[in-house]
Amino acid sequence: MTLSEVPSNSSEQVKKVKVLILGSGPAGLSAALYTARANLEPVVLTGMDLGGQVSLTNTIENYPGFPEGVGGQELVDLFQKQAERFGASVEYDTATEVELSERPFKIKTYNSEYLADVLIISTGAQPNHLNVPGEKEFTGRGVSYCATCDGWFFKDKNVVVVGGGDSAIEESLFLTRYAKNINIVHRRDSLRAGVILQQRAFNHPKIQFTWDSVITEITGEGKVEKVNIQNVNTGETSEIPTDGVFIFIGHKPSTQLFADSIDLDENGYIKTGLSLSTNVPGVYVSGEAGDPTYRQVITSAGMGAAAAMQAIRFLESQEVDQTVPVTT
Ligand SMILES: Cc1cc2nc3c(=O)[nH]c(=O)nc-3n(C[C@H](O)[C@H](O)[C@H](O)COP(=O)(O)OP(=O)(O)OC[C@H]3O[C@@H](n4cnc5c(N)ncnc54)[C@H](O)[C@@H]3O)c2cc1C
Repeated sequence: MTLSEVPSNSSEQVKKVKVLILGSGPAGLSAALYTARANLEPVVLTGMDLGGQVSLTNTIENYPGFPEGVGGQELVDLFQKQAERFGASVEYDTATEVELSERPFKIKTYNSEYLADVLIISTGAQPNHLNVPGEKEFTGRGVSYCATCDGWFFKDKNVVVVGGGDSAIEESLFLTRYAKNINIVHRRDSLRAGVILQQRAFNHPKIQFTWDSVITEITGEGKVEKVNIQNVNTGETSEIPTDGVFIFIGHKPSTQLFADSIDLDENGYIKTGLSLSTNVPGVYVSGEAGDPTYRQVITSAGMGAAAAMQAIRFLESQEVDQTVPVTT
């Protein structure tokens, strides 16, 4: 469900909460479960995509506990139900402005305003898209943005990889475990990936390259069967028969809202470490908003749990501080 489908409550109101969680993907809902079980009555703002990226995924086969796999939507529904069972509230709303210079933090949304003692940012990220015909239609049916997630489905198949950076080459090398042949389509005549990765790719018998070319369309009957490509120098068009298309042309964290108040790295990910804290005490990050490396359901959920545990400790330490008499 998207926010536009949800009836909007236009009345302005300020709500005081102990824990506000931005994002309803695996990270946000796991943080909600843990803080709810600590009786902190967390509020989760869903953002525009209830359930996050997982809800766009047909089947998740690498989340433990589901030996036969589980539907992406089904999995986040279960996450949500479990968090709500312990007292989390899920609000169909999106943060539009944050004021983090003092506590309680002020967060404005489309429908109201929140004052939060602790903020857990779980706003996730989005893979960049090619935006060509067929891409959306075949996502989950041959079009993928994650070799770790979907490589298994392409045993002895032919796949096309799009991109020329480190991710594209690393993921192509990973795909060689399964696929029969990997054709890397790149819009330039050389790669941006590191030299060692390039050498590995050039020397791999399963990998070939289509240079100076872009994909203009992905087609098939019910599943991916071929891509149409165009040479950017000559304009010449041709097609590549394929069973799958893996797109690795960058990944964008949804963190623009925090650019003025929280330290981000050069790619926009929130700077953090094992503690999941940020440079603002009381503000934590979990999931892909702070993770350029692992980007999985299980790792995002794990970060949500860890950020929640840190937030619980932070609130406990604040309570202790408040009851300690000031001595002179
Ligand atoms: C097509 C596809 C297939 C995948 N397949 C797999 C797989 O098989 N296995 C696997 O482990 N991983 C898979 N992944 C990766 C996995 O989905 C992500 O790693 C995971 O969803 C990240 O979780 P997250 O909670 O950090 O962020 P997301 O899932 O990105 O969720 C972000 C949430 O933040 C909300 N949000 C954004 N901005 C705001 C705001 N301003 N205010 C409030 N809320 C906001 C969004 O609405 C959303 O609810 C796949 C990803 C894609 C795209």
